[in-house]
Amino acid sequence: MGAEQPLCRNEADLRKTILDLLREEDPGRLEELWSVADRTRKAFVGDAVHLRGLVEISNRCGRQCAYCGLRAGNLTLERFRMSEEEILDCAREADRQGMGTVVLQGGEDYGLPAEWIASIIRRIKSETPLAVTLSLGERPQEELETWREAGADRYFLRFETSDESLYRAIHPLLPDRPVHRVEMLQRLQALGYQTGSGIMIGIPGQGYESIAEDILLCRRLDLDMIGVGPWVPHPQTPLGSGRLKMTVGPGGQVPNSELMTYKVIALMRLCCPEANIPATTALATLDPDRGYELALGRGANVIMPNMASMEYRKRYEIYPKQDFLSRTGSTVQNIKTRIRSIGRTVGTGPGARVAGSLKRDVFPPAADELNTHAQCWS
Ligand code: SAH
Repeated sequence: MGAEQPLCRNEADLRKTILDLLREEDPGRLEELWSVADRTRKAFVGDAVHLRGLVEISNRCGRQCAYCGLRAGNLTLERFRMSEEEILDCAREADRQGMGTVVLQGGEDYGLPAEWIASIIRRIKSETPLAVTLSLGERPQEELETWREAGADRYFLRFETSDESLYRAIHPLLPDRPVHRVEMLQRLQALGYQTGSGIMIGIPGQGYESIAEDILLCRRLDLDMIGVGPWVPHPQTPLGSGRLKMTVGPGGQVPNSELMTYKVIALMRLCCPEANIPATTALATLDPDRGYELALGRGANVIMPNMASMEYRKRYEIYPKQDFLSRTGSTVQNIKTRIRSIGRTVGTGPGARVAGSLKRDVFPPAADELNTHAQCWS
């Protein structure tokens, strides 16, 4: 195929290129993938690494997700809910440390009144210059509207996997309030939220084709933030204990490995070049010493330092992370040092996605660059 005839003329071609790269094992070709992802990151979002202060406000949850340690059925977990003052203290600390965003995340805790969350959002917005991101699960439209009016800027909700039957098996619907997460993401966009989503990598039963579809779905949704991390087995969950067994198609099981996570980060950067993409904590738990640096060099541009006390952080156990928590590398000061040590800068201000450098009617330059590389390799 000649250079004037790009490989990825349409989504089917792009899907094939993504699939090939997900299965790529040749070290030289992987180096090329990291390098093109890194150059794309630099061209579209620059060298700044934005820090988002993460506050896990409640580990109570009414759901029964088969992967998550916060699931209602995990009776071994000691539950907590932070107070308004504790949350405000974390937000003020994030501001003092120079961060531009605070992320309020939690289980689906129906004991958190929408109005209480709204008043916290209003206080953060009036007392600090921070952007506010919410990650509180599936919530009724009225609550999403109330929080947006209160000043919330962003909402983060992973669709986890685009494989519908796998998703239904690991994420039981609430019978009285079925929510389709992709549809909820579109409602969030319509409300004016900067919207983020993403997936877990290596869920039992997850095949390569579905990961390629996940990447294309993120692209179609034109997301502002994309968070991906490996599935980490939690022994107190049906998936982590092996009680729930999933079968995978003939294409084989995607590993929940560090390498696969880097491939997905790099491909997300190429397919969604403007998005803010974090080096996630789940990834850092697999490689506490190098995980952040490697992700930042392969497409990522965000880190989310945790602002809460160690007591709460230990109990927000969506997956086991004791080893990670016992290290000091994830303190804000250390994270800043780590960012600078790889020649990057620490972002200032809210660090929102800047849209508009893409022409929507053609595949973006990044995809073209990917095509060029794919052609070199084929
Ligand atoms: N209740 C909110 C926030 C959940 S925690 C929600 O459902 O959106 C945020 C993310 O942690 C989830 O979306 C999921 O992708 C991830 N997560 C949960 N359990 C995990 C596990 N065992 N391994 C890796 N990631 C996990």
